[in-house]
Amino acid sequence: MSTGKTAAETETSSPSGELVPSEAVRAEYEELVEEVRKHRFAYYQEDAPIISDAEFDELYRRLETLEALHPELVANDSPTQEVGGEVSAAFAAVEHLTRMYSLEDVFSLEEVEAWIAKAEAAAAKIGNGGNPPSWLTELKIDGLAVNLLYRDGALVRAATRGDGFTGEDITHNVLTIKEIPQQLTGSNFPAEMEIRGEVFIPSKDFAAFNEALIEAGKAPLANPRNAAAGSLRQKDPAETAKRPLKMYVHGIGAREGLETASQSDTYRQLAEWGLPTSPYFEVLPELKDVLDFIKRYGDKRHSLSHEIDGIVIKVDDLATQRALGYTSRVPRWAVAYKYPPEEVNTKLLDIAVNVGRTGRVTPYGVMEPVKVAGSTVSMATLHNQDVVKAKGVKIGDIVVLRKAGDVIPEIVGPVLALRDQQDPPVRDFVMPTECPSCGTPLAPGKEGDVDIRCPNARSCPAQLRERVFHLAGRGAFDIEALGWEAAIALTQPTEPEVPPLTTEANLFRLTPEDLAGVRIRREKRSKGVATGEFELVPYFYTKGTAKNPSKPTASTEKLFNELEKAKTQPLWRVLVALSIRHVGPRASRALATAFGTMDAIRQASEEELAGVDGVGPVIAVALKEWFAEDWHREIVDSWAADGVRMEDERDESTPRTLEGLTVVVTGSLEGFSRDEAKEAILVRGGKAAGSVSKNTSYVVAGENAGTKLDKAEQLGLPVLDEDGFRALLANGPDGLAGAGEGAGDADVEDGEDHQQASE
Ligand code: NAD
Repeated sequence: MSTGKTAAETETSSPSGELVPSEAVRAEYEELVEEVRKHRFAYYQEDAPIISDAEFDELYRRLETLEALHPELVANDSPTQEVGGEVSAAFAAVEHLTRMYSLEDVFSLEEVEAWIAKAEAAAAKIGNGGNPPSWLTELKIDGLAVNLLYRDGALVRAATRGDGFTGEDITHNVLTIKEIPQQLTGSNFPAEMEIRGEVFIPSKDFAAFNEALIEAGKAPLANPRNAAAGSLRQKDPAETAKRPLKMYVHGIGAREGLETASQSDTYRQLAEWGLPTSPYFEVLPELKDVLDFIKRYGDKRHSLSHEIDGIVIKVDDLATQRALGYTSRVPRWAVAYKYPPEEVNTKLLDIAVNVGRTGRVTPYGVMEPVKVAGSTVSMATLHNQDVVKAKGVKIGDIVVLRKAGDVIPEIVGPVLALRDQQDPPVRDFVMPTECPSCGTPLAPGKEGDVDIRCPNARSCPAQLRERVFHLAGRGAFDIEALGWEAAIALTQPTEPEVPPLTTEANLFRLTPEDLAGVRIRREKRSKGVATGEFELVPYFYTKGTAKNPSKPTASTEKLFNELEKAKTQPLWRVLVALSIRHVGPRASRALATAFGTMDAIRQASEEELAGVDGVGPVIAVALKEWFAEDWHREIVDSWAADGVRMEDERDESTPRTLEGLTVVVTGSLEGFSRDEAKEAILVRGGKAAGSVSKNTSYVVAGENAGTKLDKAEQLGLPVLDEDGFRALLANGPDGLAGAGEGAGDADVEDGEDHQQASE
């Protein structure tokens, strides 16, 4: 937010040659003052800011700069001379015994350094026995400033900061906050003492409170600070009592009879009397320690129990504090370092929908690009239509966008105060009824599921693009040259051209010639800046000139090399690449280990699949459903025909004595761990099942075998001890004569039958 021209550009010279503010500067100045007042009102009185804090801070800084350039403009009631906030008519006004101040803000580490140097120089001038100050460094809690008045240890009044002289009486509401003592514990209380601190909502409680609001069909609260302020300024204390408010005290006003020498001593004394002090403060000797504190808490600011918007640095020694004193608005002995903003406002230009790998249709916000927490953001997911509704956002709204650290950007909600001013007027989001990618009518998800899906799984270009992108991923075929853009280029139609892939079954059949004419839609850039215009450009081949004919690019060559390599990937990666619901790397590894070949997995019964450790019934059903589709089996068959390895390599030196047999090991064996036993069965061509069924070939029972042994006996299955197991491994069923129990009487038919075994 800026008013455009800078003050320097609009200065004019007076007849005497001195610089005086021009009409334009005056007009700009007045406009800025008005703006700052308006936003302070919305923030402090209505607890509903219209712009983000970062935008407000920028406006405020601009006002300060203009005043620094033109001191003659500064009126006594300029916002820079006052503590922001007034007293609302809804509350009784109370005068603070001593003034409440704001804090000077700085926004960079260089400014922190400069401030410390200045404060050290000022402290040196006034003595303090030649000792340089220590820095009490603490978290700047993002909450609402409150002043508590205690007389002889009893809480008699609580007020908001207001304009610093007069605040609002919120005693009844503050009495509902459990951890604020109504009576201090201990003794020797000052006759009169004002305690200043911050009331806030802990992050976890805020999240839970908002979830409950959304569940009740109400709009969530924008952020913990405004929520805390709104909660404390309720007219009905019973309402306040429902809110999860907490307080940390961080300052002191009137202090008749309180004898402490430093800020940190004071905190210790306040804690002794039962007042809630923050556990996070440190007294640090040097600038480098302060900078380290800022960095440390910057790194973990999202894992703290409450939100912070910066770090406050205070001179610890009270005598030095007194000597440094105050400006009309802030103490000279303290400063607030603000972290880069994580919440900004921007325009929601549109709500578009995206079709995912499983056909799920997800709305997402398209916003005017803005910088937030260090990166530029222009899109954020809105999850589903219920979330769009709960957040109450409309297309065209100014929205609050939040990106906390590395966390995914989130649209928090609309700025309602600005809704009426939008041009064109805001409009509701309507979930499309047809797939934006393939035009197929959308269908609701499973019962109780708010998601909407495109049922055209096979040939919806969007779903295909997502699957192709997925199969090339690091956890699947690991084809680096097949990234997001290449997945688009391979699968998305660019009229009138047909994309080279209309099913992933043909992936390994692609030839360089297939890719020759492929173009991709890309935004034009001018001197590195996006223009908003799009063009179709060749993707896999160079543009080509008369001299240098078009040829595959280096990445295209890499793509073909990687496709060749992908064919030799282990079975579990091929399984991951198939995009079977719920079948990720863990289940795929388990399946590959248990069955060894794609064929065996395909033929396995639901029970056999479910019996594998790390698979279970849900995945078993998903696998059976997946293989039941013709076009899915076609993918596997065509990949196999094109040379993709569909089984794991085996050590050929081990005889395949267990081919076609299903063996269950239960209890503990002396010579094998559970995994070793499993591995021994698998390398010999057998199946290591997790549960006993009538088609289990053998049950190997070690020490403490439990219900599986009982079941084997019930079913009359051959049961082997460890010796029997060894004999079976060595020579198959033939080796069992005389070894172990039940030897030799295995009722083994053909492998097919076992693979279809069911309980
Ligand atoms: P401030 O928040 O920058 O700093 C002063 C306040 O910090 C003190 O009053 C105190 O209550 C609080 N504080 C928190 N932790 C503290 C600690 N450990 N020690 C001492 N004080 C601590 O100044 P301000 O005047 O209260 O408000 C300015 C803030 O409000 C800015 O962040 C500004 O962006 C925001 N604001 C936003 C809008 C808007 O429209 N979005 C409008 C007005 C103000």
